[in-house]
Amino acid sequence: MGGPSASRNVLCMNITVLGGGGAWPTGRQACSGYLAERDGFLLLIDPGYASLPRLLEHAAASAVDAVLISHGHPDHCADLNPLLRARALADDPPGPLAVHALPGAVDAVLALDAPPMLAGSYVLRDFAAPGRFGIGPFEVDSWMLPHFVPNAGLRLTAGGTVLAYTGDTGPSPDIVALARGADLLLAEATYPYVVPADSAAYLSSAVAAGQNAARAGAAASCSPICGQARIRRRQRGQPPRPSTGPPRSPGLGSPSAYPEQRRQRPAAPR
Ligand SMILES: [Zn+2]
Repeated sequence: MGGPSASRNVLCMNITVLGGGGAWPTGRQACSGYLAERDGFLLLIDPGYASLPRLLEHAAASAVDAVLISHGHPDHCADLNPLLRARALADDPPGPLAVHALPGAVDAVLALDAPPMLAGSYVLRDFAAPGRFGIGPFEVDSWMLPHFVPNAGLRLTAGGTVLAYTGDTGPSPDIVALARGADLLLAEATYPYVVPADSAAYLSSAVAAGQNAARAGAAASCSPICGQARIRRRQRGQPPRPSTGPPRSPGLGSPSAYPEQRRQRPAAPR
């Protein structure tokens, strides 16, 4: 498998940041896109605008084993379409790609092509939030976090390492539960310091992301970030502190700082 890393450390997962820009891509920055690798299994998280070209720098389209999507805004899922096209139209098409998403979240992007085009190229697997499910070697816990559209915060655990990811979200105590003891909290932070009042319930700041990470005892990174990281258990043989698990009922939500795109952003939902 042409994964982003040839290493297979049983104590870590590799995270490749394909992009972290908000709303729309720039010439040098894709929107959200994160590749999580564990034991050779490639899980693509949130294939936003322009993330596919970045993905193809690391792995073939056919090498992706599953896709996990936090919410249906196109800056988090639009490149699912070209990914499926690349697989469906290949000379030797791979098997159907498992696409995990909240119910209805990717209906619009899947409708971009008429049914014959992508038929058989994917299997849609709805997940619930709050909830727990498995994707290959990853155990996934989900929380509903507040955004303009239904958005799932995601906690991925594999081999004793934990990646917490907020998707897009406003403030919520559930973010701390989501990130409890995580080896890495990847947090939306559309604004550096203060979120404008009309978006304050649905978007976050870098300051809030850091505060949440401190409360959760997690290492934090605000999108957008670029590069590759290996998440390694802090101390060999010591498992991360367990999460208290998803709440029984949906709660509220958290934070990325990106001045260029922040200036561009409209007040409308994204
Ligand atoms: Zn969004």
